[in-house]
Amino acid sequence: MIQARLTELNENEILLYLGYRGQEYPAEVEAQIRRCEKEVLAAAVPRLIWRRLPVNRADFSVLPLEGKDIRELLAGCDEAVLMAVTLGQGIDRLLVRSGVSNMADAVIMDACASTAIENVADNFEMDLRRELEAENLYLTDRFSPGYGDLPLAVQRQFCAVLDTERKIGLSVSSSMLMIPGKSVTAVLGISGRPKPLRKRGCESCSLFCSCMYRKEGKSCHEK
Ligand code: SF4
Repeated sequence: MIQARLTELNENEILLYLGYRGQEYPAEVEAQIRRCEKEVLAAAVPRLIWRRLPVNRADFSVLPLEGKDIRELLAGCDEAVLMAVTLGQGIDRLLVRSGVSNMADAVIMDACASTAIENVADNFEMDLRRELEAENLYLTDRFSPGYGDLPLAVQRQFCAVLDTERKIGLSVSSSMLMIPGKSVTAVLGISGRPKPLRKRGCESCSLFCSCMYRKEGKSCHEK
């Protein structure tokens, strides 16, 4: 059974959230990031819910996954996975508390928490990919409400289909914000043939700290 896993945070990703472009930063800032990261990891209670469903009108009728992007993602897929992960209310409380006592800490903790929820989603994706390989099946990229032309408005039905409020304490506000804030929902296709995956970004690149493109606010993909 796949469990929610929060592992080591990707430091490059934290720096990206903080707007770092390769400039030097003092050792105190490095130490502050480490301290904030520890607090975030201590406060996080990662939870996961997911369902594997056949892709046909009957099963998806309650969840109108409309738009060109989701059609492309699920093309050739007989099944799809709906997933939701959250870090829990403790993180929201930590961010509010640190916003009152130390704004610099709050900004760094927010970056650490955003990295942490991506980490939980990535770990689920990796574990599921491995499990499906044993069935000779392949997973597509994950796609979230609000990406591309998939409207954010499906968030509420998405969470209802997964029963997130009861199962992992995740609800959706009238303005479609997820509560707790550090949560991710997504759909992934399951296909009998591998489909091309999106390129990973700067956060996974070994040149992150020295990259000349990033120092100029550009990307190697724009060469
Ligand atoms: S080489 Fe490309 S992917 Fe790597 S850090 Fe630079 S811009 Fe990002």
